[in-house]
Amino acid sequence: MYSHSVALESEKCIGCTDCIKRCPTEAIRVRDSKAKIIKDRCIDCGNCIAVCRNGAKKAVMDNFSMIYKYPYRVALPAPSLYAQFSKGESVEDILASMYAIGFTDVFEVSQAAEYIAAYTRKYMQQDRIYPVISSACPVIVRLIQRRFPALIDHILPIMSPMELAARYVKTSYGTKGIEEDQVGVFFISPCPAKATDIHKPKGLERSYVDGAFSMQEIYLKVVHDMQHPTKQIKRKPTPGGMSWATRNGGIGDIGIDNHIAVDGIERVIDVLEKVEDGTLSKIHYVEALACTGGCLGGALTIENPFVSRHTLKKLIEVEEKVAHTSNPEPPNTLMERIPYNYNVSIVPKPVFSLDEDIGTAIEMMEKIETLYSKLPQIDCGSCGAPTCRCFAEDVVKGYAHVEDCVFMLRKRIKELSEAMFELTQKILPTTKD
Ligand code: SF4
Ligand code: SF4
Repeated sequence: MYSHSVALESEKCIGCTDCIKRCPTEAIRVRDSKAKIIKDRCIDCGNCIAVCRNGAKKAVMDNFSMIYKYPYRVALPAPSLYAQFSKGESVEDILASMYAIGFTDVFEVSQAAEYIAAYTRKYMQQDRIYPVISSACPVIVRLIQRRFPALIDHILPIMSPMELAARYVKTSYGTKGIEEDQVGVFFISPCPAKATDIHKPKGLERSYVDGAFSMQEIYLKVVHDMQHPTKQIKRKPTPGGMSWATRNGGIGDIGIDNHIAVDGIERVIDVLEKVEDGTLSKIHYVEALACTGGCLGGALTIENPFVSRHTLKKLIEVEEKVAHTSNPEPPNTLMERIPYNYNVSIVPKPVFSLDEDIGTAIEMMEKIETLYSKLPQIDCGSCGAPTCRCFAEDVVKGYAHVEDCVFMLRKRIKELSEAMFELTQKILPTTKD
């Protein structure tokens, strides 16, 4: 059963512990010189992929050959894809190459993003629990479930542009009499979290996306098969929708003034802590993106995010000029008929709760506090846990031994050697005897 899109290649791990402190949900431990991911805690943010210098963490994406199971193979490029091509490749060339590598159609996620922006504007016209927190980044929804369950009612209950795009594609083929199972819809993703979102969606009963491929993989294929268009490329990214690839881009497209746009998981956690303690109750909307720089900083992108941001800006300028000189697109009546709200509740999955039974939880908490007070509290990580508090929790839960802490081990050895010395003094005959 599919569960996560971030996995460990154990043979490459040297147990250096670099990754344990960068995990936002304390999901990694190093035991017996190898990292381990605690699955219930992992939110597939991809931080550990970025931080591991040994390449021991990898994204588990779908196999590209799966597209050939379908007669109709539709690519959904994330808006960040175009920004990976910084050598002056045109959008038309990139789209033409998508056909060359095996897709039979391309639909722009950026077009769906424009509709999600409009639906969000409409949602924000009524009084809500403020601030509303954006739901387009699946890592943020998972983070809230695990670290900030009290904020679940703040999550914008509207599906992502990717999901709306997939539903539109399947519905549109359906209107031509083509069965849904004949149409494969594939997302080209800048991050592993989207793959998890497809296989285990949040807020929706199922995903209409059939697979997710790494942007790195598709980039290499496209570069290898770069084509100039031999037919007119009709569907093109929209400037507003493309801007969703960067921090502040989605919110710019939605157009809510009283907002905060935050990127990078540590900064997002800071902001969510402020939402939790009520400091930001006057703010109406928080756009939160897990990767630094937004999707352009995703773990599966190719280009340096500063370079790709510049490329995206230039592409948007070109598309804006085209949009100004051509007739406006008529409203897409089929798209407007597709339901876009969440249809399944988001449930809390708190990772820091100790036990369902409150009495047992209190007892465990007391033991954790007692042990924690004896630990050095310097969060050195040599025990394999990210913090001393986390280590104390692991010991109380039975996942680690007190002696895994080098300070506690040294103390124990000292106590034992003193006891041994004392004992030998008692039982060995003195020279006088
Ligand atoms: S960063 Fe983590 S996964 Fe990579 S080698 Fe070090 S302990 Fe292993
Ligand atoms: S993907 Fe993110 S949440 Fe999962 S183990 Fe790696 S750093 Fe932690």
